[in-house]
Amino acid sequence: MSPLRVAALEPLSEQNAPEAPGRRGLDALSVGRRIRHHRQARGLTLAQLGEAVGTAQSLLSQVENGKREPRLSLIGAVADALGVPAADLLDPAPPPTHRAALEIELEQAQRSPLFRSLGLPRVSSSRKLPLDALEALVALHAELARRHDASNATPEEARRANTEIRLLLRAVDNHLPEIEEVAEDLVRAAGYTVGALTHRQVARMAHDLGFTIIHVDDLPHSTRTVTDLANGRIYLPPASIPGGHGLRSLALQAIAHRVLGHERPASYTEFLRQRLEINYFAACCLLPRSAAVEFLSAAKADKDLAVEDFRDAFGVTHEAAAHRLTNLLTSHLGIPVHFLRVGDDGALYRGYENDGVPFPQDASGAVEGQTVCRQWTARTVFEVRNRTTENYQYTDTPAGTFWCSSQTGSTEGGGFSITVGVPYAHAKWFRGRDTRVRRRSTCPDAACCRRPDVELERRWADAAWPSARLHAQTLAPLPSGRFPGVDDVEVYEFLASHAPRPDTT
Ligand SMILES: [Zn+2]
Repeated sequence: MSPLRVAALEPLSEQNAPEAPGRRGLDALSVGRRIRHHRQARGLTLAQLGEAVGTAQSLLSQVENGKREPRLSLIGAVADALGVPAADLLDPAPPPTHRAALEIELEQAQRSPLFRSLGLPRVSSSRKLPLDALEALVALHAELARRHDASNATPEEARRANTEIRLLLRAVDNHLPEIEEVAEDLVRAAGYTVGALTHRQVARMAHDLGFTIIHVDDLPHSTRTVTDLANGRIYLPPASIPGGHGLRSLALQAIAHRVLGHERPASYTEFLRQRLEINYFAACCLLPRSAAVEFLSAAKADKDLAVEDFRDAFGVTHEAAAHRLTNLLTSHLGIPVHFLRVGDDGALYRGYENDGVPFPQDASGAVEGQTVCRQWTARTVFEVRNRTTENYQYTDTPAGTFWCSSQTGSTEGGGFSITVGVPYAHAKWFRGRDTRVRRRSTCPDAACCRRPDVELERRWADAAWPSARLHAQTLAPLPSGRFPGVDDVEVYEFLASHAPRPDTT
């Protein structure tokens, strides 16, 4: 069961209560199969039915597969949406035989719009069809339907799924107690007490779960790790790669799929949710809740909270420490918080907030790929020469004043900044609260920082010919000034500062 689902979607529902084994599986499967039958007969995808009844697609998928028993209210809603009496879905009569059930399934699959759209010949499920062929056909149809659902995610749907998950996390203060518990138990069992989790402890955790970690230098290019479930092996890149700390995280993420009981994702949302959960699990292991909260509480008591100290105490990257703060600051220390990873082009790559800081958003509410205000710490930090320490700033925004701390880094793809911030009233707990740096942002008002200087624009608009850098990491819309994909404010300033001076001799 997905902890996120439990936390965010179904607080203490009756279906989580233990139940007598035996009966449940059969009934749930029978109900699930009937729902699938009627859904497919109407040509609906899981996502479409989910939307119609206000339930997550992943949950419906589990119901259809008999992996969980639907509440009566859900059955009622599904029956309404499919236009059948609820009693039809609850009909307790099981199909007479295994073969008969398969024949019905094959019939239904061949009647589905998906199958008909392929233009393939139908197979008659007569007695002449051998049982193993019938079984294989039904399994193929099931897989075809699964792949169809999974590949249905357009970029637009992907953005919507991202947004949905971000809002769910915001509602629970980015804190998933079930995963925290599991991780805490596992690291303690592996000998963890305080500070950084060692590679050796990670290897012991893997071993306790039946895995051996093996470092290889020939992983497929498209993978970060590969797990051999049959032989209990997790293949990782060579231990000697620079920044080897990332290897603990990779191993923990690979372990997480098993710990959290993940199955092959049935949809894009499910894929995103699983990725989020394995990242969350790895963070919980690298900065275990008990030790982390103790560390942060002491720093708060001293009014000396700092991302860099948290990072150094647990031996993780600045980004990992900053992001982990979003899991713990609100839930355990009562401090609302925001987090951003911003590229040196100003694009927001990753963002979380529960403190009301006004993130740039597109019409669908998506924040990924949007351009962050030039006045925000996440961008002004790129102007700072000394980048060895954190950079502090107060920023006045239409939603109030925020105190933020930013640190820059770089990858092959370019520079980036990691920012953690809190509302003004909570700055008092942090090192750097005494900064005199203060900026004013009125974004999304275009006059804030998106409109070029009038003089510069007059001088350069018809004389500039910039060539856009392609953004590989994001498909998000690019800044739309005069030149497609290019920030015109920056182009004019660049040209003005580099132009030859007029000859005065
Ligand atoms: Zn602005």
